[in-house]
Amino acid sequence: MSTELETGEGSAEQALGLLIADGAAAAALARQRRDDATLPGPERALAQAVLLLVALREGSDADVALEQAATDAALRAWSPAPRAADLQAHAHALFLRRQGRAAESVVVLEPLHRRAGDRPAVDACLTAAAMGVGVSMAGDDTAALEHFYQALALARRSGNRSLLVNALNNLGSTQADLFNLDDAAPMLRECLEQALQLGSRRQVIYAAGNQVQCLCQMGQPAQALAVARQHLMGAARADDPPALRRHEEVARALLDNGLVDEAETWLASDAGVDPMSNEMGTARAWLQARLLLARGRTTEALALCAGHLQQQHHGGQGTAAADQLNLLRLAASAARQLGAHAQAYDLLQQAFVKHEQLLGRAARSRQLSLQITHRLRQAEWERDTAQQLAARLEALNSSLQAQVAENLRLQQQLRAQALEDPLTGLHNRRHLMEAGAALLSLLRRRREPLAVALVDLDHFKHVNDEHGHEAGDQVLCGFAEVARRHTRAEDLACRYGGEEFVLLLPGARAEQAAARLDALRARFLEQAFSDAEGRAFRCSFSAGVAVSDDSAEGLPALLARADAALYAAKEAGRNRVLLAALPAG
Ligand code: GH3
Ligand code: MG
Ligand code: MG
Repeated sequence: MSTELETGEGSAEQALGLLIADGAAAAALARQRRDDATLPGPERALAQAVLLLVALREGSDADVALEQAATDAALRAWSPAPRAADLQAHAHALFLRRQGRAAESVVVLEPLHRRAGDRPAVDACLTAAAMGVGVSMAGDDTAALEHFYQALALARRSGNRSLLVNALNNLGSTQADLFNLDDAAPMLRECLEQALQLGSRRQVIYAAGNQVQCLCQMGQPAQALAVARQHLMGAARADDPPALRRHEEVARALLDNGLVDEAETWLASDAGVDPMSNEMGTARAWLQARLLLARGRTTEALALCAGHLQQQHHGGQGTAAADQLNLLRLAASAARQLGAHAQAYDLLQQAFVKHEQLLGRAARSRQLSLQITHRLRQAEWERDTAQQLAARLEALNSSLQAQVAENLRLQQQLRAQALEDPLTGLHNRRHLMEAGAALLSLLRRRREPLAVALVDLDHFKHVNDEHGHEAGDQVLCGFAEVARRHTRAEDLACRYGGEEFVLLLPGARAEQAAARLDALRARFLEQAFSDAEGRAFRCSFSAGVAVSDDSAEGLPALLARADAALYAAKEAGRNRVLLAALPAG
């Protein structure tokens, strides 16, 4: 057998995916993974859990007991292995079902099923399907449909074709049993197509068997026989287990096409007695009665039908209603041929009631199916939409965050460019005029002075000429450094332009301000610079200081007074600080 699962790396995950298509392949892969000591424990525990599932599906009781013990040990040795632990719980439910304890198995599966959304799709799909089988065995067709639809959605999501075939098969055959052929037919058609693509002989036989039955029920005997000849009659092997024997479907297709002899041969070649399944019993009784009727053995046919119906009456609850209806109709026909008109009428009456029930059930399950698929599609759509929305929001959010950060950076850069002098790092003239004006009016309201010092480096042209422009820049930065270090936090030092600086000293009176500027002058003069040729030199500055009073004098006027004092300082020989004259008026 070849499936898409066999290509690529063998993993416990793949073994799980192979479980339904090919138990032997799944077991071989799982055993190899379990025994690979280089793998992480949880992976090996998962592989062991897969071996347990294979044993439960197709092993003997002894195989099951062996794998159960091995799984217990694996989970002890390699804990925590939450996925394997979930599969062990799932396996326990299968074990209960194997013992005919369907209702208990459902109870075990329920908590797993509630977490379907958080489990891997393959695992969740297996659980949903097992839930469906469990509730179906317990007689709740509505719940079975619901779970099989969920299993189908999960199978599609898992991308595992074998699970998809299994889900379609479960759902299609349940719908066919409910006589809802409108939903059954397309599912079983897809099921067979997918099974053929998957290439699993076992799943092809299951799918084809159900397809043949559905086509016969739909009154399409030629198509049914074509499917039976192509996929069932050729594929049968003598050593196939009972579950793979589809002799009854083949016989029905042959009978529906009037091929009585061939049908008889097929039916006779299989004992067909499955003590576990009542459905097959009814189907077989019906087929055999048809054969008898076709051979003109009408009395025997009626006896067979009546006997089986009697037996059904005493407790054959699980019998497929469609098979019962077929049996009643056949019995009525036999009775009529025998002239037993009262009996024929009674049987037809029962058949009529059964038919009504069946049609009602079909209509209900059709409606239910529409509701369920709509709801599932809605949930799926909501999930996808929510995911898309979340992804889009996330993308939007991160691009917004990047944008905000970029804006902040740009703003800071712009602000800095606008308000800071790039060479010295001091505030620039623009900042001086804005912040200085605000500072002046604030201090005036508080009746405190503002000292404005205008500083101009002495013979700075000469520095450039003698030591180079670079050395000149160094001097400018040197002044900035001294100014920063020897002014107070509340003071403002700005590069006013070229080799001119302005210092604002809030709260300083004329003498204090002059003294502080003089101290600064002394510090600056101490500073030695060196040019590119290593020659050391110094630089001095001159400054004029003007202090605000309680007049309305603005910053430009203060600066003008300071400038006049500076001019005077230059005139007086430079390297000195002079106080400005008081404002005129
Ligand atoms: P004074 O003592 O009278 O102020 O003489 P001075 O040479 O300092 O005055 P002047 O205004 O003649 O020269 C100023 C010089 O400052 C001219 C200009 O090249 C130089 N300068 C202006 N900005 C910069 C600058 O950013 N870097 C350098 N290295 N030099 C600058
Ligand atoms: Mg100058
Ligand atoms: Mg100068």
